[in-house]
Amino acid sequence: MDKDSLINELIKTKHLKTREVIQAFRKVKRENFVPLDLKRYAYVNEPLPIGYGQTISQPLTVADMTEALEPKRGQKILEIGTGSGYQAAILAEIVGKKGKIVTIEQVKELADFASKNLKYAGYANVKVIYGDGSLGYAKESPYERIIVTAASPDVPEPLKKQLKDGGIMIIPVGYDVQELVKIIKKGDTFEEHFLGWYRFVPLKGKHGFKI
Ligand code: SAM
Repeated sequence: MDKDSLINELIKTKHLKTREVIQAFRKVKRENFVPLDLKRYAYVNEPLPIGYGQTISQPLTVADMTEALEPKRGQKILEIGTGSGYQAAILAEIVGKKGKIVTIEQVKELADFASKNLKYAGYANVKVIYGDGSLGYAKESPYERIIVTAASPDVPEPLKKQLKDGGIMIIPVGYDVQELVKIIKKGDTFEEHFLGWYRFVPLKGKHGFKI
């Protein structure tokens, strides 16, 4: 499958919906974010291995999560689980030069891989941090949006705290399969919407799974 066919399929099946998200999918080259030997599979609608037991998420999942996040131009967004850097690049396209993506990865080699991919693709508005993303990144908080791309046993408290009032968080919660949850912060309350079932690699770290 080529890029156009994949995007058209995601539009037809209503995983891609809004103009900004579709434009970002058209602009970002997924082949720049997969290992060399897998480049020919870049536009297959599947997750792909990126080493260290981790994956670049399936395009369908990236589409669903990005649409649910409702990212806007100029926003500051925190991503937990940088992986290849592909999701960060999609978000960087949408927030533009006045916005910023802070993304955290717990595998040093992957943080380096993503930094290299993002630099090559020309995204200067993404800050890659090597560390435990279950703690968030208080230094740059609050965030208008938070996206967690690994499965969490629960919603980590630091992330709730670092989300701006009125902000949106997308996070997969659960064990073998996970419910994708959309959280909207309204003062001291967190409104939850369930978006369906998915399967992610586990979130590790202090507020993740102890494995
Ligand atoms: N968003 C990525 C992309 O576009 O390629 C895909 C992410 S992959 C499904 C999940 C990532 O979360 C893995 O790279 C994994 O190492 C990372 N991860 C797991 N626990 C983490 C933690 N506590 N802090 C930061 N990253 C974590």
